[in-house]
Amino acid sequence: MPLPTNTWFTEPCEEGGSAFSLRTRRKLHQEQSPYQKIEVYETDSYGNLLVIDGFIMLSSRDNFLYHEMMSHPALFTHPNPRRILIIGGGDCGTLTEVLKHATVEQVTQVDIDERVTRVSEQFFPELCRSNADPRAHLLFEDGVRFVARQQSGCVDVVIVDSTDPIGPGEVLFSQDFYAQCRRLLGADGLLVQQSESPFYHLDSIIKPMYRRVRGAGFVDVLSLQFPQPVYASGWWTCTLACRDMTIGTFREQAVEERTFVTRYYNAAIHRAAMAMPEFMRQGLLAL
Ligand code: SAM
Repeated sequence: MPLPTNTWFTEPCEEGGSAFSLRTRRKLHQEQSPYQKIEVYETDSYGNLLVIDGFIMLSSRDNFLYHEMMSHPALFTHPNPRRILIIGGGDCGTLTEVLKHATVEQVTQVDIDERVTRVSEQFFPELCRSNADPRAHLLFEDGVRFVARQQSGCVDVVIVDSTDPIGPGEVLFSQDFYAQCRRLLGADGLLVQQSESPFYHLDSIIKPMYRRVRGAGFVDVLSLQFPQPVYASGWWTCTLACRDMTIGTFREQAVEERTFVTRYYNAAIHRAAMAMPEFMRQGLLAL
């Protein structure tokens, strides 16, 4: 018996001429914060679903793919990641993954919207279980303003876990912002940013990101790919940028000997994620 259409949450993707839908049981929360509209749904098969301004941020069921790939490849590429800055990331899933690394001494997370964190604490407590870790510092302000005030060389890895490049997240995809992030990075420093779908956003987001990151002085840039069922096309990327080294190797031995649990990430996945499909390689190498 088909369910009425009003029990489906649908996110259309204009670039793809496509849409992704999840069957929902009920809406658990809705509010308009000073920055964005925040909604939480209970779905039939993906657990809870966080939606900001109509765009899916995460589901309980598949967020581990994104959060592990936003954190572990960068942290296992840096030789000794101690000081981490997360811009955005208010749901705290990336923060939880970062704090699994014993080398990490301090993580500062700067999200513009405190309400995202408070709503996540209520509806996604599993992502917020490390928020009270003494190494974690949660701040709430615009990431661009924050980085502009920080001393040069004070961070080992910057993780930009932002919304799409629209609304308050748009400035986090600018060359000026990348230049400020580069200034903050110490020797061997790395930036990693979520960079949307290789299938739908290569020309509109990934290519401009490469130009801007290189224009900001980063020596090397590489997109890593991974599956993400709830995002447009189901296929997503994060893009790594190195301040002064080329990307290619990572601390494979340390990955093999890690003492924490991952559900997706391992050394073979890291190597495979760095392999670029031909259409991406052609499009990005020519830049
Ligand atoms: N995984 C998600 C995705 O790509 O769909 C992103 C997750 S996280 C919820 C994104 C966060 O970026 C939001 O909490 C939002 O408040 C934050 N954000 C947007 N613009 C920002 C800015 N200028 N400074 C700091 N945080 C920002």
